[in-house]
Amino acid sequence: MGLIVQKFGGTSVATTERIQNVARIITETYKQGNNVVAVLSAQGDTTDELIEKAKEINPKASRREMDMLLSTGEQISCSLCAMAIEALGFPVVSLTGWQAGFQTNSSYSNARIKKVRTERIQSELDRNHSIVIVTGFQGINKFDDITTLGRGGSDTSAVALAAALKADLCQIYTDVDGVYTADPRYVKGAKKLDEITFDEMLELASLGAQVLHNRSVEMAKKYRVNLEVLSSFSGKPGTKVKEVVKTMEKTQISGVAKDKNVARLALVNVEDKPGIAYQVFSLLGQKNINVDIILQSMGRGESQDISFTVKRDDADQAMELLLEHKSALGFERVDVNKEVVKVSIVGAGMLDNAGVAAKMFGALYDADINIHMISTSEIKVSVLLDEADANQAVQAIHSKFFEE
Ligand code: ASP
Ligand code: MG
Repeated sequence: MGLIVQKFGGTSVATTERIQNVARIITETYKQGNNVVAVLSAQGDTTDELIEKAKEINPKASRREMDMLLSTGEQISCSLCAMAIEALGFPVVSLTGWQAGFQTNSSYSNARIKKVRTERIQSELDRNHSIVIVTGFQGINKFDDITTLGRGGSDTSAVALAAALKADLCQIYTDVDGVYTADPRYVKGAKKLDEITFDEMLELASLGAQVLHNRSVEMAKKYRVNLEVLSSFSGKPGTKVKEVVKTMEKTQISGVAKDKNVARLALVNVEDKPGIAYQVFSLLGQKNINVDIILQSMGRGESQDISFTVKRDDADQAMELLLEHKSALGFERVDVNKEVVKVSIVGAGMLDNAGVAAKMFGALYDADINIHMISTSEIKVSVLLDEADANQAVQAIHSKFFEE
Protein backbone atom coordinates (compact mmCIF):
# COMPACT_ATOMS: atom_id res chain seq x y z
CA MET A 1 0.00 0.00 0.00
CA GLY A 2 1.40 3.33 -1.03
CA LEU A 3 0.72 7.02 -0.83
CA ILE A 4 -0.15 8.61 -4.15
CA VAL A 5 -0.62 12.30 -4.89
CA GLN A 6 -2.79 12.90 -7.95
CA LYS A 7 -3.15 16.30 -9.56
CA PHE A 8 -5.99 17.14 -11.93
CA GLY A 9 -5.79 20.20 -14.20
CA GLY A 10 -8.54 22.61 -15.15
CA THR A 11 -9.71 20.71 -18.26
CA SER A 12 -9.88 17.47 -16.30
CA VAL A 13 -12.43 18.98 -13.89
CA ALA A 14 -14.16 21.38 -16.29
CA THR A 15 -17.67 19.87 -16.14
CA THR A 16 -19.83 17.80 -13.80
CA GLU A 17 -19.20 14.66 -15.86
CA ARG A 18 -15.48 15.27 -15.77
CA ILE A 19 -15.50 15.78 -12.01
CA GLN A 20 -17.34 12.47 -11.72
CA ASN A 21 -14.70 10.89 -13.94
CA VAL A 22 -11.95 12.28 -11.70
CA ALA A 23 -13.80 10.96 -8.64
CA ARG A 24 -13.71 7.54 -10.29
CA ILE A 25 -9.97 7.70 -10.98
CA ILE A 26 -9.32 8.72 -7.37
CA THR A 27 -11.54 6.05 -5.85
CA GLU A 28 -10.11 3.35 -8.13
CA THR A 29 -6.64 4.20 -6.83
CA TYR A 30 -7.99 4.16 -3.29
CA LYS A 31 -9.70 0.81 -3.79
CA GLN A 32 -6.37 -0.69 -4.80
CA GLY A 33 -5.29 -0.05 -1.20
CA ASN A 34 -3.50 3.29 -1.59
CA ASN A 35 -3.73 6.44 0.43
CA VAL A 36 -4.76 9.16 -2.01
CA VAL A 37 -4.29 12.90 -1.79
CA ALA A 38 -5.65 14.74 -4.82
CA VAL A 39 -4.77 18.31 -5.77
CA LEU A 40 -7.20 20.07 -8.09
CA SER A 41 -7.09 23.14 -10.30
CA ALA A 42 -10.06 25.41 -10.86
CA GLN A 43 -12.65 24.22 -13.38
CA GLY A 44 -11.89 25.07 -17.03
CA ASP A 45 -11.37 28.79 -17.56
CA THR A 46 -12.60 29.79 -14.10
CA THR A 47 -9.39 31.55 -13.14
CA ASP A 48 -9.41 33.65 -16.34
CA GLU A 49 -13.06 34.51 -15.79
CA LEU A 50 -12.40 35.62 -12.24
CA ILE A 51 -9.59 37.86 -13.48
CA GLU A 52 -11.98 39.41 -16.02
CA LYS A 53 -14.57 40.04 -13.32
CA ALA A 54 -12.00 41.74 -11.16
CA LYS A 55 -10.90 43.97 -14.04
CA GLU A 56 -14.46 45.18 -14.57
CA ILE A 57 -14.62 46.34 -10.98
CA ASN A 58 -11.10 47.60 -10.50
CA PRO A 59 -8.38 47.17 -13.11
CA LYS A 60 -5.81 48.08 -10.49
CA ALA A 61 -7.04 45.76 -7.75
CA SER A 62 -4.42 44.94 -5.14
CA ARG A 63 -2.70 41.62 -5.50
CA ARG A 64 -3.85 40.61 -2.03
CA GLU A 65 -7.50 40.93 -3.07
CA MET A 66 -6.78 39.19 -6.37
CA ASP A 67 -5.44 36.19 -4.46
CA MET A 68 -8.46 36.19 -2.19
CA LEU A 69 -10.59 36.02 -5.33
CA LEU A 70 -8.58 33.58 -7.46
CA SER A 71 -8.20 31.04 -4.67
CA THR A 72 -11.96 30.47 -4.75
CA GLY A 73 -11.87 28.70 -8.12
CA GLU A 74 -10.05 25.75 -6.60
CA GLN A 75 -12.43 25.64 -3.62
CA ILE A 76 -15.30 25.08 -6.00
CA SER A 77 -13.70 22.20 -7.90
CA CYS A 78 -12.44 20.55 -4.70
CA SER A 79 -15.71 20.66 -2.78
CA LEU A 80 -17.61 19.40 -5.83
CA CYS A 81 -15.16 16.57 -6.31
CA ALA A 82 -15.43 15.64 -2.63
CA MET A 83 -19.22 15.52 -3.03
CA ALA A 84 -18.84 13.25 -6.05
CA ILE A 85 -16.64 10.92 -4.00
CA GLU A 86 -19.14 10.99 -1.12
CA ALA A 87 -21.80 9.98 -3.58
CA LEU A 88 -19.69 6.96 -4.54
CA GLY A 89 -19.64 6.02 -0.86
CA PHE A 90 -16.03 6.69 0.11
CA PRO A 91 -14.65 8.66 3.07
CA VAL A 92 -13.37 12.01 1.83
CA VAL A 93 -12.50 15.50 3.01
CA SER A 94 -11.62 18.59 0.99
CA LEU A 95 -9.14 21.11 2.36
CA THR A 96 -8.11 24.62 1.32
CA GLY A 97 -4.44 25.44 0.89
CA TRP A 98 -4.16 26.79 4.41
CA GLN A 99 -6.00 23.87 6.00
CA ALA A 100 -3.62 21.58 4.13
CA GLY A 101 -0.65 23.44 5.65
CA PHE A 102 0.77 25.37 2.70
CA GLN A 103 2.86 28.18 4.13
CA THR A 104 4.18 30.67 1.59
CA ASN A 105 6.03 33.95 1.44
CA SER A 106 4.05 37.14 0.87
CA SER A 107 4.54 37.67 -2.88
CA TYR A 108 0.85 37.83 -3.61
CA SER A 109 -0.03 36.30 -6.99
CA ASN A 110 3.40 34.72 -7.28
CA ALA A 111 4.08 33.27 -3.84
CA ARG A 112 6.75 30.67 -3.12
CA ILE A 113 6.03 27.72 -0.87
CA LYS A 114 8.14 27.86 2.28
CA LYS A 115 6.84 24.81 4.02
CA VAL A 116 3.99 22.32 3.95
CA ARG A 117 2.81 21.32 7.44
CA THR A 118 1.28 17.95 6.77
CA GLU A 119 -0.19 17.12 10.22
CA ARG A 120 -3.80 17.68 9.21
CA ILE A 121 -3.54 15.66 6.01
CA GLN A 122 -1.61 12.95 7.78
CA SER A 123 -4.26 12.60 10.47
CA GLU A 124 -7.05 12.48 7.88
CA LEU A 125 -5.17 9.66 6.17
CA ASP A 126 -4.21 7.75 9.31
CA ARG A 127 -7.17 8.20 11.63
CA ASN A 128 -10.06 8.48 9.22
CA HIS A 129 -8.55 6.67 6.28
CA SER A 130 -10.04 9.47 4.18
CA ILE A 131 -9.29 10.46 0.67
CA VAL A 132 -8.00 14.03 0.89
CA ILE A 133 -8.76 16.64 -1.77
CA VAL A 134 -6.61 19.78 -1.65
CA THR A 135 -7.00 23.09 -3.47
CA GLY A 136 -4.03 23.66 -5.76
CA PHE A 137 -2.24 26.93 -6.40
CA GLN A 138 -2.54 28.49 -2.93
CA GLY A 139 -1.42 28.85 0.66
CA ILE A 140 -1.21 31.41 3.43
CA ASN A 141 1.53 33.80 4.43
CA LYS A 142 2.72 34.82 7.88
CA PHE A 143 -0.13 37.30 8.20
CA ASP A 144 -2.65 34.47 7.65
CA ASP A 145 -3.58 36.02 4.32
CA ILE A 146 -4.36 33.86 1.32
CA THR A 147 -1.68 33.79 -1.36
CA THR A 148 -1.57 32.15 -4.80
CA LEU A 149 1.44 30.58 -6.47
CA GLY A 150 1.21 32.08 -9.97
CA ARG A 151 -0.66 30.82 -13.03
CA GLY A 152 -0.44 27.08 -13.51
CA GLY A 153 0.72 26.73 -9.91
CA SER A 154 -1.29 23.63 -9.03
CA ASP A 155 1.41 21.36 -10.47
CA THR A 156 3.78 22.90 -7.97
CA SER A 157 1.30 22.41 -5.12
CA ALA A 158 1.04 18.73 -6.00
CA VAL A 159 4.78 18.16 -6.19
CA ALA A 160 5.39 20.09 -2.96
CA LEU A 161 2.79 17.96 -1.23
CA ALA A 162 4.24 14.75 -2.63
CA ALA A 163 7.68 15.82 -1.35
CA ALA A 164 6.39 16.79 2.09
CA LEU A 165 4.35 13.60 2.48
CA LYS A 166 7.17 11.49 1.00
CA ALA A 167 4.64 10.08 -1.42
CA ASP A 168 5.54 7.07 -3.52
CA LEU A 169 4.27 8.70 -6.68
CA CYS A 170 2.96 12.03 -7.92
CA GLN A 171 0.66 11.71 -10.93
CA ILE A 172 -0.11 14.82 -12.94
CA TYR A 173 -3.37 14.19 -14.81
CA THR A 174 -3.95 16.49 -17.76
CA ASP A 175 -5.61 16.57 -21.17
CA VAL A 176 -2.70 15.04 -23.10
CA ASP A 177 -1.31 11.51 -22.86
CA GLY A 178 2.06 12.63 -21.59
CA VAL A 179 5.19 14.35 -22.79
CA TYR A 180 5.73 14.16 -26.55
CA THR A 181 8.82 14.38 -28.73
CA ALA A 182 7.16 17.48 -30.26
CA ASP A 183 3.73 19.08 -30.18
CA PRO A 184 1.47 16.39 -31.70
CA ARG A 185 -1.01 19.08 -32.76
CA TYR A 186 1.22 20.15 -35.62
CA VAL A 187 4.15 17.75 -35.86
CA LYS A 188 3.61 14.60 -37.90
CA GLY A 189 5.10 11.52 -36.26
CA ALA A 190 5.38 13.09 -32.78
CA LYS A 191 5.59 10.26 -30.26
CA LYS A 192 4.74 10.01 -26.62
CA LEU A 193 7.81 9.40 -24.47
CA ASP A 194 7.63 6.62 -21.89
CA GLU A 195 10.28 8.30 -19.78
CA ILE A 196 12.23 11.54 -19.62
CA THR A 197 14.83 12.90 -17.20
CA PHE A 198 14.18 15.83 -14.86
CA ASP A 199 16.81 17.90 -16.65
CA GLU A 200 15.30 17.30 -20.06
CA MET A 201 11.82 18.03 -18.74
CA LEU A 202 13.06 21.25 -17.18
CA GLU A 203 14.55 22.39 -20.48
CA LEU A 204 11.44 21.41 -22.40
CA ALA A 205 9.17 23.14 -19.88
CA SER A 206 11.14 26.37 -20.12
CA LEU A 207 11.52 26.11 -23.91
CA GLY A 208 7.84 26.17 -24.64
CA ALA A 209 6.47 22.67 -24.03
CA GLN A 210 3.48 23.46 -21.86
CA VAL A 211 2.82 20.17 -20.10
CA LEU A 212 4.26 20.98 -16.69
CA HIS A 213 4.85 24.15 -14.69
CA ASN A 214 8.62 24.85 -14.54
CA ARG A 215 8.78 25.23 -10.82
CA SER A 216 7.11 21.88 -10.27
CA VAL A 217 9.82 20.11 -12.26
CA GLU A 218 12.59 21.93 -10.39
CA MET A 219 11.01 20.89 -7.13
CA ALA A 220 10.50 17.28 -8.24
CA LYS A 221 14.16 17.07 -9.19
CA LYS A 222 15.30 18.60 -5.92
CA TYR A 223 13.22 16.30 -3.73
CA ARG A 224 13.41 13.26 -6.00
CA VAL A 225 9.66 13.01 -6.41
CA ASN A 226 8.57 10.24 -8.77
CA LEU A 227 6.51 12.08 -11.33
CA GLU A 228 4.19 10.80 -14.00
CA VAL A 229 2.27 12.87 -16.56
CA LEU A 230 -0.86 11.22 -17.94
CA SER A 231 -4.29 11.85 -19.37
CA SER A 232 -7.42 11.83 -17.24
CA PHE A 233 -9.40 10.94 -20.38
CA SER A 234 -7.56 8.15 -22.18
CA GLY A 235 -6.65 5.76 -19.36
CA LYS A 236 -3.32 5.07 -21.15
CA PRO A 237 0.04 4.97 -19.40
CA GLY A 238 1.75 8.36 -19.41
CA THR A 239 5.32 9.67 -19.26
CA LYS A 240 7.51 9.07 -16.22
CA VAL A 241 9.85 11.88 -15.24
CA LYS A 242 12.86 10.67 -13.30
CA GLU A 243 16.53 11.14 -12.55
CA VAL A 244 17.94 8.61 -15.03
CA VAL A 245 16.04 6.86 -17.77
CA LYS A 246 16.67 3.42 -19.20
CA THR A 247 16.19 4.31 -22.82
CA MET A 248 18.55 7.26 -22.73
CA GLU A 249 21.20 5.70 -24.96
CA LYS A 250 18.84 4.86 -27.76
CA THR A 251 17.91 8.33 -28.89
CA GLN A 252 20.13 11.32 -29.27
CA ILE A 253 17.38 13.74 -28.36
CA SER A 254 14.13 13.55 -26.42
CA GLY A 255 12.25 16.36 -28.01
CA VAL A 256 11.95 19.42 -30.20
CA ALA A 257 10.32 22.52 -28.74
CA LYS A 258 9.25 25.87 -30.12
CA ASP A 259 9.09 29.08 -28.14
CA LYS A 260 7.29 32.02 -29.71
CA ASN A 261 7.76 34.39 -26.83
CA VAL A 262 11.02 35.72 -28.25
CA ALA A 263 12.27 38.89 -29.89
CA ARG A 264 15.68 39.81 -31.19
CA LEU A 265 17.30 43.17 -30.57
CA ALA A 266 20.40 44.32 -32.38
CA LEU A 267 22.60 47.21 -31.36
CA VAL A 268 24.18 48.34 -34.59
CA ASN A 269 27.58 50.00 -34.73
CA VAL A 270 28.48 49.94 -31.08
CA GLU A 271 31.91 51.14 -30.11
CA ASP A 272 34.36 48.22 -29.92
CA LYS A 273 35.81 48.79 -26.46
CA PRO A 274 35.79 47.14 -23.02
CA GLY A 275 32.73 47.64 -20.82
CA ILE A 276 30.00 48.02 -23.45
CA ALA A 277 28.49 44.57 -23.03
CA TYR A 278 28.67 45.06 -19.29
CA GLN A 279 26.75 48.34 -19.49
CA VAL A 280 24.11 47.05 -21.90
CA PHE A 281 23.30 43.90 -19.97
CA SER A 282 23.45 45.55 -16.54
CA LEU A 283 20.86 48.07 -17.69
CA LEU A 284 18.54 45.27 -18.80
CA GLY A 285 19.25 43.24 -15.68
CA GLN A 286 18.28 46.14 -13.43
CA LYS A 287 14.84 46.15 -15.05
CA ASN A 288 14.53 42.38 -14.69
CA ILE A 289 14.67 41.85 -18.42
CA ASN A 290 16.17 38.42 -19.00
CA VAL A 291 18.50 38.05 -21.92
CA ASP A 292 18.80 34.67 -23.56
CA ILE A 293 20.96 34.19 -26.68
CA ILE A 294 23.74 36.76 -27.20
CA LEU A 295 25.75 37.22 -30.35
CA GLN A 296 28.56 39.72 -30.74
CA SER A 297 29.95 40.26 -34.20
CA MET A 298 33.62 40.68 -35.00
CA GLY A 299 34.79 44.27 -34.78
CA ARG A 300 34.99 46.27 -38.01
CA GLY A 301 37.70 48.73 -37.07
CA GLU A 302 36.11 50.86 -34.37
CA SER A 303 32.67 49.31 -34.20
CA GLN A 304 30.74 46.06 -33.95
CA ASP A 305 27.15 44.81 -33.51
CA ILE A 306 25.67 43.12 -30.47
CA SER A 307 22.44 41.20 -30.89
CA PHE A 308 20.51 39.32 -28.26
CA THR A 309 17.09 37.87 -27.55
CA VAL A 310 14.59 38.75 -24.82
CA LYS A 311 11.04 37.65 -24.16
CA ARG A 312 8.74 39.21 -26.75
CA ASP A 313 6.72 40.94 -24.03
CA ASP A 314 9.91 42.65 -22.85
CA ALA A 315 11.13 43.82 -26.27
CA ASP A 316 9.60 47.31 -26.28
CA GLN A 317 10.76 48.08 -22.79
CA ALA A 318 14.25 46.85 -23.63
CA MET A 319 14.39 49.05 -26.71
CA GLU A 320 13.20 52.15 -24.86
CA LEU A 321 15.74 51.54 -22.16
CA LEU A 322 18.60 51.26 -24.63
CA LEU A 323 17.46 54.35 -26.53
CA GLU A 324 17.39 56.34 -23.29
CA HIS A 325 21.08 55.53 -22.91
CA LYS A 326 21.99 55.93 -26.55
CA SER A 327 24.63 58.59 -26.10
CA ALA A 328 26.34 56.87 -23.17
CA LEU A 329 26.43 53.55 -25.02
CA GLY A 330 27.37 55.13 -28.32
CA PHE A 331 25.56 52.97 -30.88
CA GLU A 332 24.05 53.95 -34.19
CA ARG A 333 20.61 52.35 -33.87
CA VAL A 334 18.60 49.52 -32.30
CA ASP A 335 16.79 47.05 -34.56
CA VAL A 336 13.97 45.01 -33.12
CA ASN A 337 12.54 41.89 -34.72
CA LYS A 338 9.50 40.33 -33.09
CA GLU A 339 8.84 37.88 -35.88
CA VAL A 340 11.30 35.28 -34.69
CA VAL A 341 11.00 32.02 -32.77
CA LYS A 342 13.39 29.85 -30.87
CA VAL A 343 13.44 26.20 -31.85
CA SER A 344 15.36 23.85 -29.59
CA ILE A 345 16.33 20.24 -29.35
CA VAL A 346 16.77 18.74 -25.89
CA GLY A 347 18.36 15.48 -24.90
CA ALA A 348 20.58 14.04 -22.21
CA GLY A 349 21.92 11.66 -24.88
CA MET A 350 23.51 14.66 -26.60
CA LEU A 351 26.29 14.77 -24.02
CA ASP A 352 28.18 11.90 -25.53
CA ASN A 353 27.05 12.15 -29.13
CA ALA A 354 29.14 14.37 -31.33
CA GLY A 355 27.36 15.76 -34.34
CA VAL A 356 23.91 16.26 -32.84
CA ALA A 357 24.00 20.01 -33.48
CA ALA A 358 25.28 19.44 -37.02
CA LYS A 359 22.42 17.05 -37.66
CA MET A 360 19.92 19.71 -36.56
CA PHE A 361 21.55 22.35 -38.79
CA GLY A 362 21.55 19.83 -41.64
CA ALA A 363 17.81 19.33 -41.30
CA LEU A 364 17.31 23.09 -41.50
CA TYR A 365 19.61 23.38 -44.50
CA ASP A 366 17.70 20.64 -46.32
CA ALA A 367 14.49 22.56 -45.65
CA ASP A 368 16.15 25.76 -46.87
CA ILE A 369 15.62 27.52 -43.55
CA ASN A 370 17.99 30.25 -42.46
CA ILE A 371 19.38 30.35 -38.90
CA HIS A 372 19.83 33.76 -37.28
CA MET A 373 21.41 32.79 -33.99
CA ILE A 374 22.59 29.65 -32.23
CA SER A 375 23.13 28.77 -28.61
CA THR A 376 24.07 25.49 -26.99
CA SER A 377 24.29 24.00 -23.53
CA GLU A 378 25.08 20.49 -22.31
CA ILE A 379 21.70 19.05 -23.13
CA LYS A 380 20.19 21.46 -25.64
CA VAL A 381 20.77 23.31 -28.88
CA SER A 382 18.61 26.33 -29.73
CA VAL A 383 18.36 28.25 -32.96
CA LEU A 384 16.60 31.50 -33.69
CA LEU A 385 14.56 31.48 -36.90
CA ASP A 386 11.95 33.54 -38.73
CA GLU A 387 8.55 32.87 -37.22
CA ALA A 388 7.19 31.98 -40.66
CA ASP A 389 9.60 29.02 -40.81
CA ALA A 390 8.89 27.72 -37.31
CA ASN A 391 6.52 24.80 -37.86
CA GLN A 392 8.32 23.59 -40.94
CA ALA A 393 11.60 23.74 -39.02
CA VAL A 394 10.26 21.73 -36.09
CA GLN A 395 8.87 19.15 -38.51
CA ALA A 396 12.14 18.89 -40.47
CA ILE A 397 14.24 18.50 -37.32
CA HIS A 398 11.81 16.05 -35.79
CA SER A 399 11.75 13.87 -38.92
CA LYS A 400 15.54 13.88 -39.12
CA PHE A 401 15.99 12.66 -35.57
CA PHE A 402 13.01 10.39 -35.15
CA GLU A 403 12.30 8.97 -38.58
CA GLU A 404 15.67 8.38 -40.24
N1 ASP B 1 -6.24 27.74 -11.61
C1 ASP B 1 -4.91 28.25 -11.69
C2 ASP B 1 -4.62 28.74 -13.09
O1 ASP B 1 -5.44 28.60 -13.97
C3 ASP B 1 -3.88 27.27 -11.23
C4 ASP B 1 -3.72 26.07 -12.12
O2 ASP B 1 -4.53 25.79 -12.96
O3 ASP B 1 -2.72 25.36 -11.94
O4 ASP B 1 -3.59 29.30 -13.32
MG1 MG C 1 -5.86 26.37 -14.92
